[in-house]
Amino acid sequence: MSVAKCCNNPHFTPDPRSKKLYCKTHFTELIEKRVRKAINKYYMLASNDHIGLGFSGGKDSTVLLHILSNFQKRFPFSSITALTVDEGIEGYRDESIDLTRKFTKKYQIPQVIISFREAFGANLDELVKRSKEKEITLSACAICGILRRRAINLAARKVKVTKIATAHNLDDEAQSIVMNMLRGDSAKFIRLSRVPIEKYKSLHPRIRPFVHVTEPEIVLYAYANNLEYHSYPCPYSASAMRNDIRAFLSKMEEKRPNSLLNVVKLHDSLTKYFPQKIDLEPPFYCKTCGEISTHETCAVCDLLKKLEINKQHKT
Ligand code: SF4
Ligand SMILES: [Zn+2]
Ligand SMILES: [Zn+2]
Repeated sequence: MSVAKCCNNPHFTPDPRSKKLYCKTHFTELIEKRVRKAINKYYMLASNDHIGLGFSGGKDSTVLLHILSNFQKRFPFSSITALTVDEGIEGYRDESIDLTRKFTKKYQIPQVIISFREAFGANLDELVKRSKEKEITLSACAICGILRRRAINLAARKVKVTKIATAHNLDDEAQSIVMNMLRGDSAKFIRLSRVPIEKYKSLHPRIRPFVHVTEPEIVLYAYANNLEYHSYPCPYSASAMRNDIRAFLSKMEEKRPNSLLNVVKLHDSLTKYFPQKIDLEPPFYCKTCGEISTHETCAVCDLLKKLEINKQHKT
């Protein structure tokens, strides 16, 4: 049986989904087309957006910065600022921060680096140690997730971006959908929107342009385009539940290509029946820091109080 090829150039890889053989140039075009299609399908960007791109120096955000900076050249009224969070993870984050500096300099993209220490008064290593001492049952990733989201918002506000882009890929998206199902969390299941929503005036709409691109495709794209990225895993790694779901879904995708995309498409059609409720006024402003919150005290202040970190973070 003859295998379909993109052209007569030396082949680089089969497309993991169609199994057709691609050269580097046409594989690059294929992935960029998938990104463009997702951006258009979910109305992610306007021609004058100032995008704040969460940039860690890992493979996903490095490839996203490369692709968006190429797209952006065609839209002279748009701009990109890289937003980098230094959680303070010894032997891991320092090295990736150096790489992000190198990359943004090469691409001439302005960068804002915000550290947990500067924003919250302690780095992640200290916070994890403190939570163990106090026997608080929160994983490093749970602490990191709560604070990183806030840190990105603070950095975004500083440079007045109009949207925040994150490099979550199709694997991450399908995992989040299945995770919410397995936890029976209908509120989060419905809220997971790929269309950017300006829910509250002071929170930036978020976009995920890689929502139709898988993790292996991103690795191949980086290789085809000689992109240098930080490839060491975080010493705390992801939560056990997400790891289990990741292993299961990756196996399914390998055996039955497009399984991940089918999960996202199913979620697309289900959420049509649950239109997003847009409240421009939040239920609360945190009584400690003044940020938007679902309770009288926000999750960040709640966490810092439990860990007895006294520095009042800036808003
Ligand atoms: S693996 Fe967990 S602790 Fe490490 S950067 Fe990611 S969320 Fe933070
Ligand atoms: Zn080709
Ligand atoms: Zn607060």
